[in-house]
Amino acid sequence: MKSLREDQKERLIEIVGPEDFSTGQSNLELHLHDISPHTGVLPSGVIWPTTTEEVAKVLEFTYLENIPVTPWGAGTSTEGNPLSTAGGLVINLTRMDRILAIREDDLQVDVQPGVLRKELNRKLSASGLFFPVDPGADATIGGMIANNASGVQTVKYGATKDFVMQLTIVLPDGNIIQTGTHAHKSSSGYDLTRLFIGSEGTLGIVTKATLRLCGIPACHLAATVTFESLESASEAVVLLIASGMEPAALELLTEELIHLMNEEKNLNLVEKPSLFCEFHGISTAALEETAALSREICEDCGALEFIYAIDEKERKNLWQARHDAWETIHRAHPGKETLIVDAAIPISRFPEMVSFSKQQVLQQGVPGYVFGHAGDGNLHIVLVGDPENKEEWQKLETINHQVVEQAIGLEGTCTGEHGIGIGKRKFMRLEHGESYDIMKKIKNMLDPKDLMNPGKIFI
Ligand SMILES: Cc1cc2nc3c(=O)[nH]c(=O)nc-3n(C[C@H](O)[C@H](O)[C@H](O)COP(=O)(O)OP(=O)(O)OC[C@H]3O[C@@H](n4cnc5c(N)ncnc54)[C@H](O)[C@@H]3O)c2cc1C
Repeated sequence: MKSLREDQKERLIEIVGPEDFSTGQSNLELHLHDISPHTGVLPSGVIWPTTTEEVAKVLEFTYLENIPVTPWGAGTSTEGNPLSTAGGLVINLTRMDRILAIREDDLQVDVQPGVLRKELNRKLSASGLFFPVDPGADATIGGMIANNASGVQTVKYGATKDFVMQLTIVLPDGNIIQTGTHAHKSSSGYDLTRLFIGSEGTLGIVTKATLRLCGIPACHLAATVTFESLESASEAVVLLIASGMEPAALELLTEELIHLMNEEKNLNLVEKPSLFCEFHGISTAALEETAALSREICEDCGALEFIYAIDEKERKNLWQARHDAWETIHRAHPGKETLIVDAAIPISRFPEMVSFSKQQVLQQGVPGYVFGHAGDGNLHIVLVGDPENKEEWQKLETINHQVVEQAIGLEGTCTGEHGIGIGKRKFMRLEHGESYDIMKKIKNMLDPKDLMNPGKIFI
């Protein structure tokens, strides 16, 4: 993609004003990286629209002028999802950051796409409501919708897709559509809302969303459980879920990761395979009963220790440390990059998947930290290496391939929550077979010129 012509820049400035458009080198470079090892192609310009109408005018223009566009939220993706692969224009949605309406009685909120998840929950707290999808990073709602993000609380509350009721979308040619309804249920026609969720900005730009909300739970109870082996920890996960205990979070961590967390955060945790659990409920008594039952289940699986008298400060520290896991690993290996495996499988296959993954890491002899949102069968391995060292990086890729193939073989997926982006395109055919061709046809129908976030999802 060539640089933007002067007349093109003038038109874009006419649409959004001079303060919301830039071709400055530093602004262009700020949009070259997410947290993956991928590097984008330098865009020719960055634009910050503030309304649906501005987005529509921008896309109408880029469509006529054949300019590729890449939507950008907070840039916290792990697979190169918001990086431009063809230059063109980055459409940064962070200045569309208004909460438009909180409808407490309906447990709903209308937001612009650039609203940040944490800010949304801060604003909602006075109403006693919250948006429970928690990917750790302070992502935008638009980026979470586009990646169908989930996180530590998905085991109880669900993923982003479970909370989106209605979307306003600007299509690649600038046309505006609205999908979905404010009704709690609907059987009306094809579910276009779900089509756009997880489409990674390849079909259009979300400019407004209505989200379903939950009541803030009255009581929390956190527990840490240690095991002698990773196998017994993952067996306990399956039993806890099967018993209908409904944890609000159920995370598995290996001793190597706990060691790094202790080093960095002085947590004093036992350096053994562990589960971090949380339960939400209406009374402390009910939660303590749940914790006692969970303890029995874990002890039957050989738990060494089950601690649940955790005070509020300690609970927050624990979850903060878990959320910071990727940064902690990164800081422990200065100068290295990470490749994040994000496979998900049916919960009954979780123990064998964990063993298989650990074995692959040991076989290749590279640093690799196995952990994950165990309660929903979502396994992460953060692999550490140097992309410039071809031999070393190949080992990381081999582990990634083996684990993803195993997951797909177990009727799982190559990505539980991070999306396809650039990095996981190679697994799409294997995972989806003929459905992959249907996806390509849908993409082609909505974006015949392949201008919307090209080079993502499809090879
Ligand atoms: C430390 C760390 C931990 C993480 N943990 C998790 C986790 O537990 N679970 C999880 O799911 N993710 C996790 N992530 C990944 C990431 O936070 C999520 O994928 C998040 O949804 C990305 O949102 P964003 O605002 O940063 O979007 P970006 O990265 O900027 O963009 C994501 C995608 O959305 C598109 N996009 C952005 N805005 C729009 C819009 N308005 N309309 C259409 N398309 C748009 C982009 O083109 C891109 O394809 C983690 C990231 C980090 C850094």
